[in-house]
Amino acid sequence: MDLKKYLIEITYLLASILFVFGLKGLSHPKTARRGMNLAALGMLVAIVGTLFHNDIINYELIMIGLVIGGLIGAAMSIWMPMTAMPQRTALSHAFGALAASLVGISEYYRHVVDSHETMEAYKMTALGFEVLFGSLTVTGSLIAFAKLQELVRGTPITYKGQNIVNLSLFALAAIIFIYLIFVPTATPLFYLMVVLSFVFGVLLVMPIGSADMPVVMSLMNSYAGLASAATGFAIGNNVLIIAGTLDGFSGFILSILMCKAMNRSITNVLFGAFGSPSTETGAALDGVMREVVADDVAVRLAYARQVVFVPGYGMATAQAQHAVRELGDALELRGVIVKYAIHPVAGRMPGHMNVLLAEANVPYSSLYEMDQINPELPATDVAVVIGANDVVNPDARDNPKSPIAGMPIIEVDRAQSVIVLKRGKGKGFSGLENPLFYKSNTGMLYGDAKSSLSKLVQAVQHS
Ligand code: NAP
Repeated sequence: MDLKKYLIEITYLLASILFVFGLKGLSHPKTARRGMNLAALGMLVAIVGTLFHNDIINYELIMIGLVIGGLIGAAMSIWMPMTAMPQRTALSHAFGALAASLVGISEYYRHVVDSHETMEAYKMTALGFEVLFGSLTVTGSLIAFAKLQELVRGTPITYKGQNIVNLSLFALAAIIFIYLIFVPTATPLFYLMVVLSFVFGVLLVMPIGSADMPVVMSLMNSYAGLASAATGFAIGNNVLIIAGTLDGFSGFILSILMCKAMNRSITNVLFGAFGSPSTETGAALDGVMREVVADDVAVRLAYARQVVFVPGYGMATAQAQHAVRELGDALELRGVIVKYAIHPVAGRMPGHMNVLLAEANVPYSSLYEMDQINPELPATDVAVVIGANDVVNPDARDNPKSPIAGMPIIEVDRAQSVIVLKRGKGKGFSGLENPLFYKSNTGMLYGDAKSSLSKLVQAVQHS
């Protein structure tokens, strides 16, 4: 091995170590920022190492690619707001998968079409896998983006026999893939497999409701990672194998964790068309929704011993995290014990609430996970639900027929009293009614979460 090759392998080893430490950092909000920076540095080291490669014949094209990629990345980080993070992730996956897919197609073209070489079975396996999963991830992620951005209808788009059509299409692509391992020179079939994979990506994601997109995306993340690992095998690149495997398995673990927190299986997310109107089996609702005003709520909060805030998706859309913190501070000044309860799937992406509350400098020591806070709720004077709905729906616990039956919830209905901040009678992502809002110990404070919280801060300060 010449010196240049050693150098490249050392940069790849360094990049891989940085990726591992980056991932480790992401496991806690305190270290997440450092983790991100380490992973980004790892990517930079890997790119620089690759630029020393002897196989590179044209640096101009690489520079053009770098500039275009850099500009797209910068534009996405500047102009896409925090609340559009899921869309941003979907686009990033689409680009990553497109890169993997294109590398696979060009490698095939270079060896089989252009040089008329035959391809060893192991290489064709890696390459076929890369193209199959890379291509379906490209279109699947683009549809996920379009659904989240509301460019395409967010509710599941379904028809009878859809799962059979989709699975048959995938089976056909998989059969072609296996055939190509034995007969790699069947070029038209290779291109047919590429087209089928692109089409399958669209068909796979269309029947999934937009609220399930985070799970779909982390699954796509996993596919894109595995496609990159396969690329690594196909072109003999170690850093791609390591980074792709880390990406593939972390995405898969994340999907499983999200499904667990929603008490759903991955097959139900992928093939259940959850969120379509027909799946709704409304709860039997007793009582009436009781509206309360900010001044009365403020008095109740100011004289409470313990208050628990339960943020949800509405806090994110209202960008109310700073106002929550201000209210928490105002209450703590009066000697009230303030805790923040975090449901693992509150919001629209894992860690959504943690990120927002961290941005507002809420101390980590005040954040409580669902299992920690639930036993404390019966002794809590006021639970304040801020734009959350599904994650506090007691139907999940009490009604075995509910589509979200078994999903663990933050049991605010067991608190002494509950105040719910939301704009009106809007439902959560599951589209289900929430009996919590009709309970006698619940008061509804209507309005945008940010403006309701600002009113509460002022009223608490003056009470
Ligand atoms: P949710 O069930 O979607 O409810 C959000 C509520 O916020 C709505 O009922 C809405 O009511 C209210 N809202 C919206 N904008 C508001 C504003 N500006 N001010 C005040 N209120 C506002 O949210 P969640 O309780 O956080 O539950 C998350 C859901 O997403 C769960 O069902 C979970 O399974 C699902 N999910 C999450 C993830 C994840 O990773 N976090 C992944 C996949 C799925 P109004 O319209 O009346 O205001």
